[in-house]
Amino acid sequence: MQDRFGRTFDYVRIAVTEKCNLRCTYCMPEEGVDFQGKEKILHSEETLRIIGVLARMGVKKVRFTGGEPLVRKDIVDLIEGSVATPGIKAVHLTTNGLLFDRYAQRLRDAGLTGVNISLDTLDADKFVRITRREGLEKVKDSIKLALDMGFPRVKVNVVLMRGFNEDELKDFTEMARDHRLTVRFIEFMPFDGHQIWETGGHFASAESLVKQIETLYPGIQPAPGTRTEHHIFQGNDHQGKIAVIPAFTRSMCGNCSRIRVTADGNIRNCLYSDKEYSLRELIRSGCKDDEIADVFRKAFAEKEKDGFESKKASSAQRVAVEDIGRVSMTQIGG
Ligand code: SF4
Repeated sequence: MQDRFGRTFDYVRIAVTEKCNLRCTYCMPEEGVDFQGKEKILHSEETLRIIGVLARMGVKKVRFTGGEPLVRKDIVDLIEGSVATPGIKAVHLTTNGLLFDRYAQRLRDAGLTGVNISLDTLDADKFVRITRREGLEKVKDSIKLALDMGFPRVKVNVVLMRGFNEDELKDFTEMARDHRLTVRFIEFMPFDGHQIWETGGHFASAESLVKQIETLYPGIQPAPGTRTEHHIFQGNDHQGKIAVIPAFTRSMCGNCSRIRVTADGNIRNCLYSDKEYSLRELIRSGCKDDEIADVFRKAFAEKEKDGFESKKASSAQRVAVEDIGRVSMTQIGG
């Protein structure tokens, strides 16, 4: 499946819930958002059906996101079902790590191939400030557990914010020295219920992060990584890798091989596009698989060249996140 810019789509990110057990300030207001009723969220059979259709269209990799996917009680069934889908080669999960120990063994047995654990600070007070909950030790234990249990890929996602955790860059990169994991620094993005972004003060560019890493480890070499890991390095004596994800500067759009499905069953062809293609009612009306495939084809065909164009097109069409009731990153799927 290719788009008009020659990009082949082989990766789907599926948000399985809008709910989360943290309240990160850059993502959600303290009181949470108006979560949609359960009947609006896709059931696991519906999600697995979509994965089956996509696999037949050439998608090879699935990532479950949220909200926090481990608050979904049937998450293991979703992972098992995806692993068993012919054509799917990799099934990954992005989690905040709080409930990971409860599921780790079952996730490993189900065949989960990768775990990304989000952690923005290694300081207990700052953890409470950014997430509005306790839990730093739990998250650190989850990273250790994922490594000890031998999950094939373990990554730590760090949203780097100037004036908040930029001074912890070295503490995070040092994790890659002793452990077989990738520490990924992600540029802060303009989605937050509390509009922290509007101040602009927290933005640290990918370029500035790369410079800091090169200064910390003179002679550090580029290493192979995934397509969104635009900058990826491995130090000489490091077991793991360090990556920088230009999520806001969007220099990786030319390689974008992904599509998103929201928890309530809409397709988004770009993180920066507010246009959605609805699947839920179609599926519930008893449609054929081909009809689901057609909606994906349309979404792929209309994907813009990059995130800047997507944003522009959404504004031109006056699609506003508020109008479609999305005020938090958890509703888009991160
Ligand atoms: S900004 Fe859009 S096109 Fe670019 S990588 Fe993200 S999802 Fe893909």
